[in-house]
Amino acid sequence: MSRQALDALKQQILLLDYLQAHDWRPARTLSRGRFMGLCPLHEDHEPSFLVDPLKNLFYCYGCGRGGDVIRFAELYHQVKFPQALALLRQWLGLPLLLRETAEFYRVQLHRCSEAVDYLYQRGIRSSELIEHMRIGYAPGGCLRGWLTQLGYSRVTLREAGLVSAAGYDTYMHRVVFPLEGNLYGRSISACAPPHRFLPGTKGGLYAWEHAQGYPEVILVEGLFDYAALWQAGFHNVTCSVGNQLNARQYRQLCDSPRTVYLALDADENGSGQKAAQSLAYRLTEHGISARTVSLPEGHDPNSFFAQGGDAHQFQCLLEAARG
Ligand SMILES: [Zn+2]
Repeated sequence: MSRQALDALKQQILLLDYLQAHDWRPARTLSRGRFMGLCPLHEDHEPSFLVDPLKNLFYCYGCGRGGDVIRFAELYHQVKFPQALALLRQWLGLPLLLRETAEFYRVQLHRCSEAVDYLYQRGIRSSELIEHMRIGYAPGGCLRGWLTQLGYSRVTLREAGLVSAAGYDTYMHRVVFPLEGNLYGRSISACAPPHRFLPGTKGGLYAWEHAQGYPEVILVEGLFDYAALWQAGFHNVTCSVGNQLNARQYRQLCDSPRTVYLALDADENGSGQKAAQSLAYRLTEHGISARTVSLPEGHDPNSFFAQGGDAHQFQCLLEAARG
């Protein structure tokens, strides 16, 4: 990438916008329009992170690191320079591309009975829920043509991970759930790896804008768990999409006083329970009240409901978790 292209990228991405999109908030305003806040790069308790929006630069008095938006992306995502550039470019252009892709997949869902059958089997039956989660379907072999018609280059589609190096759609026979800045694809066929994401971060907690206002929040690890609970009337639910929370998701859970019910999978090897216990411990240390929900062995919230559990029974599990 040439010097000019680098400068152009830095002009297009304002450091402050990028920081705010990653949940950074200034704690106070200084002279010449500068801001001070907690450092997102190290465990910071006193605001020591200085941002100068006019110069598009940051400096941390705690960890001594500083630079421009590219340097920030390198440090924050812990990647090398070329990957940081790719992430930034993706951040700039991705929202529209992903919205258009998700929209295309949504239309396909209603054309493909195998996808609707799969959802039905997994307990997703309400059209209101499908609408709420914006669930779509990737049949494979038709996305690239559609996006090319819309003017996207093959390079862009490849960089976004939507098309393989050989030019094929990467998502095939997958139910697709739009996440913040990514698309999760669940294979409906047993021959392919079940879970797939586009390159880049999985983003924050799923549908956090809906859940964050509730004083009690239920945290699950899978989107089908989310779907089952939402459909059963528990709208105070959110999902980490995996049993490990990333830093952003963790900060979201801790962003105001609340009770978090951890309804992670009860795997037979106990890994889900261990993850729940260590998470409960960390949350408690941050002043968040955490309760571990004990599901019957071998169950996750989705299978609990799919095998006949109802809202009343789940409510009893929540009550029991009150401790
Ligand atoms: Zn720092």
